[in-house]
Amino acid sequence: MRLLVVEDDPDVGEDLVRALRDAGYVAELSTQGDEAWFLGDTEDYAAAILDLGLPRLDGLSVLRRWRSAGRNFPVLILTARGEWIEKVEGIEAGADDYLAKPFVMPELIARVRALLRRAAGHGAPQFRIGRLTLDTGRMAALIDDRTVRLSPLEYRFLEYLGHRPGQVTSAQLIAEHLHGVADAADTNAIEALLARLRRKIGPDIVETRRGLGYLISDAR
Ligand code: CA
Repeated sequence: MRLLVVEDDPDVGEDLVRALRDAGYVAELSTQGDEAWFLGDTEDYAAAILDLGLPRLDGLSVLRRWRSAGRNFPVLILTARGEWIEKVEGIEAGADDYLAKPFVMPELIARVRALLRRAAGHGAPQFRIGRLTLDTGRMAALIDDRTVRLSPLEYRFLEYLGHRPGQVTSAQLIAEHLHGVADAADTNAIEALLARLRRKIGPDIVETRRGLGYLISDAR
């Protein structure tokens, strides 16, 4: 899944991006408020991590602009330690969660995972769509309660579609969420990835809608 990290401190920003990539996400870094606002307004992100003190446009203004334009992806704000007013203002501006600096990376990753699950309507770390169960904590997939061995990319493909059950999703959008900005080669690679995946999980879990994209159906 594709995440936007907005942080002007280069060390913190790079640590965040690295930790999120290690956790299996595609993370893109923006260091300026106006650029971050534009990216969140025009690109498709599953969630954003947003520092509040930013050059050119502060984080609260970025968040208010996203929300007033109807951008509803989950946002976790990074606040200064002890600044309760920032937390209150952030939540009122539409933040879904906050974390005070300095924070430890495992907590940030756990909170991001929880935000993504809740945004998909799943409260628990394990959730089931038809015969498929996804365990987001272990990054594991089970078919009929049997664990299937998957590569990280194969798991992320299933998790992305699993977070949008019943929705047909284009190869282009899937490729963007697996690789960041996607070109035609990445889009074509989705078909090959799915072929490999179907050899492991069977042909029926992920359905193809010719010319439109792919879906995991929640109908049973
Ligand atoms: Ca800052």
